[in-house]
Amino acid sequence: MNTPVSAIDVAIPLHLDSTYHYLVPPELAPEIAVGKRVLVPFGRRRLIGIVLGSIRSTEELKPVVAFLDPEPLLTTDELEFLRWASSYYLHPLGEVIRAALPAGLLTPPSSKEDGPSMPDQRLAIQREPFFHIAAGSEAHPRMGVRALEIYAAIAATAELSRTELRRRFGQPAPQLKRLVELGLITREEREVYRDPFREETVERDEKLLLNEHQAAACTALTDALHRGLFAPFLLHGITGSGKTEVYLQTIATAMEGGKNALVLVPEIALTPQLVKRFRRRFDCGIAVLHSALSQGERYDEWRRIRRGEIRIVIGARSAIFAPLDRIGIIVVDEEHEPTYKQSEGFRYNARDLALVRGKRADAVVLLGSATPLLTSIHAADEGKLLRLELPERARGLPLPEITLSDLRGRKGSVFSPSLVQALRRNLDAGGQSLIFLNRRGFATYLVCGDCGHVIRCPNCSVTLTYHRKGERIVCHYCDYSLKAPSLCPGCKVGSITLLGQGTERVEEELGELFPEARIARMDRDTTTGKDGHAKILKGLEEGTTDILVGTQMIAKGHHFPGVTLVGVIAIDTILNFPDFRSAERAYQLLTQVVGRAGRGDNPGRVIVQSLMPEHYAIARGVAHDGAGFYREELIFREEAGYPPFAHLAALHFSGNVEESVKTSARGAAALLCELRRSRGGLVEILGPIAAPLSKVRGRYRWQILLKCRRRDMLHALLKVFHDGWQSAAGIRTIIDVDPVEMM
Ligand code: ADP
Ligand code: ZN
Repeated sequence: MNTPVSAIDVAIPLHLDSTYHYLVPPELAPEIAVGKRVLVPFGRRRLIGIVLGSIRSTEELKPVVAFLDPEPLLTTDELEFLRWASSYYLHPLGEVIRAALPAGLLTPPSSKEDGPSMPDQRLAIQREPFFHIAAGSEAHPRMGVRALEIYAAIAATAELSRTELRRRFGQPAPQLKRLVELGLITREEREVYRDPFREETVERDEKLLLNEHQAAACTALTDALHRGLFAPFLLHGITGSGKTEVYLQTIATAMEGGKNALVLVPEIALTPQLVKRFRRRFDCGIAVLHSALSQGERYDEWRRIRRGEIRIVIGARSAIFAPLDRIGIIVVDEEHEPTYKQSEGFRYNARDLALVRGKRADAVVLLGSATPLLTSIHAADEGKLLRLELPERARGLPLPEITLSDLRGRKGSVFSPSLVQALRRNLDAGGQSLIFLNRRGFATYLVCGDCGHVIRCPNCSVTLTYHRKGERIVCHYCDYSLKAPSLCPGCKVGSITLLGQGTERVEEELGELFPEARIARMDRDTTTGKDGHAKILKGLEEGTTDILVGTQMIAKGHHFPGVTLVGVIAIDTILNFPDFRSAERAYQLLTQVVGRAGRGDNPGRVIVQSLMPEHYAIARGVAHDGAGFYREELIFREEAGYPPFAHLAALHFSGNVEESVKTSARGAAALLCELRRSRGGLVEILGPIAAPLSKVRGRYRWQILLKCRRRDMLHALLKVFHDGWQSAAGIRTIIDVDPVEMM
């Protein structure tokens, strides 16, 4: 027997389920620490992994090349959380860790020569000189005017950075050099953060006096914070009921107790107002993990959090992994938003992980929404979430009055006469209007008037959308695009008819109806770039926009006091999706859009155009009858055996050859049936069937849906399947635990 030697267990960020052992030479042994990055040989490459633990081994092992961090990047507690997520979502630990760390940290050096240093220049730590007045120094009046000015500027503050001096003086280098040589100022180089918000200054505000419902919610939350135990809350407050104020005051309480706060929002670019409200209220360190940050900025924000310089982290989905310690409260704003679920790779749900992380940290978890998930409502009914309700608008304002406009049997303009009239009146009265529809582009169908040929994407099973800007037809799934044809590509003689309406067309029609109105559009095409969203939202805020047309982006929690009219053009399309959550989505979206109206001093009005006015999602939404909607939806779910009455997992199979995808999916279903028999499970196996979107990016897609009342049983079956299943060549198998997207 060999004597055991010092070795480590390492997670590698590849699609591999196992972890790997490496020998640690004695001279490197003192550097071993869980959570550090380590450069290791892997096949013919060198990769960066994370140390999971130290072990004694008698195996023949390859030695590590180097440890890359003086201090661990992840704590053992964080690693345990990630291990839990890896096992729950059946996703390799190395990839889970990669998703949790700032991008680029685990990217290996491109060649062996690069050595073990920081692999990516974009992640290089930035340093900058700072200038101070030397002790006891005094500037000589005979010096040049410029040098004197620079000296005075430095003397006026404790210190000035080179960036700041350059901003004020252009090219101060010669004078600075001279001042240093004369011993009048000193120069010190320090690490600095790339802070994308440094420029911004905000006015502080004060706590608002809470109304009785808000006060009751805050009292319950404060009590829970004082107990210091895990407590999950559902804050169900109608739109404009002042949920944000409850978040702010509860976070203040947590911070008074020395605790920190993590705030998750569906999409940070869409929530500049929320971020601003936090900056107004708190003058502590706030990190905003914005998707538009550069890799370097992101890494700097991450380091500020790791070092304890941050008390509040605000971010989208991936902020659930922020290295914040002493978490007292995790807020999940708009908890119903599907964007909390990562839809590719590591398919976690940040809303669900918030509960897991909150439990580990003995924290309060506050899920807030005007339209909570049905599963959350049910959990509150069962006492698994503590219910807090804000049933009235914060400032006592009424909910907007809603008129349903039945579109059945009507042809012509996308706007019903009543919507046109309401827009006209609102415009004349100086009010702002929002027009919602959930399709971007101009026309969503291009059909040949002669032969009936419909233009489809060659790579995906969807029609192409015509975009007037650029005169192109575009696939919204794979971005395939081509110049819009004037003749039918099928029969080569017929001319093309444009059917279906998108935001572009609606904007154009509005322009024709109201030539004097200032109209803006907000959808994926108009919000590219770092400030795309903010610019459009600002137009509404500052009153330079009269009518804003947009997709679901305009529905998200915005607070625009000037909006007094909302028009909903096509909510029905959502109801036609082959997804058991379509009614829930339609109800949520409708209620959220409606909630944008009448948030200021003038009452709001809403007109909902619909082809299915009797559908309960529409009828209940229009009647402000949330309780009624949830009651009906719950009955449907129970009858159909969907969540909250079952847990789900989806298996996706895809490949370039349809026949092999089908064969694979059938093989998997057979294996599942066999495994289920031996394990005596109650798991229902549905499928395989072709996915509703049967082809995307040239890949054919098949699915199996697994359903079970018991989560443990479903998970056990998934685990044995995962361990035993070998995808055929060219076929990709994906396991999606708690799927949200069923397309
Ligand atoms: P929600 O997040 O529930 O949609 P907000 O927090 O945006 O609602 O609140 C809507 C408006 O009401 C905001 O302008 C907010 O400043 C105001 N508000 C909230 N709470 C109070 C309060 N207690 N007294 C007065 N105004 C309030
Ligand atoms: Zn396509």
